[in-house]
Amino acid sequence: MDIISTYFPDEYIGSFIRRNKELQCEYKFSKNDYETQRISFRDKDNTEILPRSIRQICDQERVLTDTTLHPIAKKLGILKKITTVITPTEKWSICEQCVTEDIESVGVAYIHRQHIVPGLTVCYKHAGPLKSVCIACSTAIKWHHITGFYQCHKSYAPLKYDNAPTPHHFQLSEFSADLISIDITHVPNVNSKKLIRQRLCELGYGKIENIDYVAVSEDIIKILGPGIHKNGLPSAWSNFPSPTLSSLIKLGYFAYRKAESYKRDVETTTLTERL
Ligand SMILES: [Zn+2]
Ligand SMILES: [Zn+2]
Repeated sequence: MDIISTYFPDEYIGSFIRRNKELQCEYKFSKNDYETQRISFRDKDNTEILPRSIRQICDQERVLTDTTLHPIAKKLGILKKITTVITPTEKWSICEQCVTEDIESVGVAYIHRQHIVPGLTVCYKHAGPLKSVCIACSTAIKWHHITGFYQCHKSYAPLKYDNAPTPHHFQLSEFSADLISIDITHVPNVNSKKLIRQRLCELGYGKIENIDYVAVSEDIIKILGPGIHKNGLPSAWSNFPSPTLSSLIKLGYFAYRKAESYKRDVETTTLTERL
């Protein structure tokens, strides 16, 4: 496959590759086309290898930074974890307003990386619901042709807030979006778990080595709803310090609320540790 069209702002790698294939009338598409492979090194960030289809692009680091969840995982300090997924193969979603806006502004719709961050339910820009199925053709977004959005979007209705998201769902999406864009690249190894633990301790959830995760979990459910845990159990929190990307984003939001505050803590701590 040739790359004949580069990616749009915030376009997810899966969308980018699939769109390029479709432009060349290639409709067979699988996760092997976009999923990164990870090579693990001791005491070092894992190295992500892009799929063969785009290895021809010389600046692979750029592609990782611009089209995958690599920046979030890096800023949360979990790139070393072999289970951290930066190119999700499940739960692809769209915001219908973004689709319409993209068609108006660049003439093409695509899947945004921000909309496939696990655990988010609304668009960080429009606060509209993230939809995993196209209402026009009933196809799951994961299987939807990217070029097909041009036709389907004509059936997308303007946003009505029948089920208004809570401010927290929206702010969580903002937190995630800001986490992608803020610059903390000058801090090589972020210890987010330690920072979050310290912050939870300051918020009154116990001592640094003995945080009451049951209480944390209950309070997160109060603001973000119960849909965030498998089986409704606080399993994702109780196995902290080994959480998934989605639970870590929620914990980060819960503890900091703003990506800027998180950034400040990351920088201050690193500075203090160096002294
Ligand atoms: Zn949107
Ligand atoms: Zn459709």
